[in-house]
Amino acid sequence: MKPTVMIVEDEASLVTMLRYNLEKEGYLVTEASDGEEAMTVADETRPDAVILDWMLPRMSGIEVCRQLRRKAETRSVPIIILTARSEETDKVRGLNVGADDYMTKPFSMPELVARVRALLRRAKPSQQKGQLTFSDIVLDMDSHRVSRGGQYIHLGPTEFRLLQYFMERPGTVFSREELLNGVWGPDIYVEPRTVDVHIRRLRKALNTNNGSDVIRTVRAAGYALDSTGDQAA
Ligand code: CA
Repeated sequence: MKPTVMIVEDEASLVTMLRYNLEKEGYLVTEASDGEEAMTVADETRPDAVILDWMLPRMSGIEVCRQLRRKAETRSVPIIILTARSEETDKVRGLNVGADDYMTKPFSMPELVARVRALLRRAKPSQQKGQLTFSDIVLDMDSHRVSRGGQYIHLGPTEFRLLQYFMERPGTVFSREELLNGVWGPDIYVEPRTVDVHIRRLRKALNTNNGSDVIRTVRAAGYALDSTGDQAA
């Protein structure tokens, strides 16, 4: 089946150009011209990748990105954010909204298409095999098993979901609130401190066999899955 790319952009001429180039590449294209519509179209069409403009009417691209990341169905969809100026790109990076790539307008169409292709390629294998890997850690989504260095590790259901969330986006720093939204869900009320408790359990389980610490604590910011380990101490 052809992958579906959703374009979220209010500038009609750019949408036409994007659609033309993506269809030429063999993708199915869906579109939304504002943030609210984007959430509806994403629900209905389950895109394989999203091209998202930062400046949108009603809801900003940043907010759309956050909301897509909060929903289980779109949590790991690759997202490329389009920004008008390079300062905006810096801001998007700084905000850490969970986008996979950024392009500054005006951009070259072949380059954008190439980046979409790369993101789709990266996203595919792990979904097909139902496995995520990070360093020597393997998480199998079908059997709900985790191993490190070939040795089975026992995790509680919350720690499993937490680890899966990290492994889908390695290197990204998540605040406690983002983790609560992404792992527990936006409608469930839990104390932010609960996150620390589960992080501690996850760490302990992962380090059972004297493995190096892969969860980085970022002071005043949150946590990330990282091979550099804890730098807050
Ligand atoms: Ca726009």
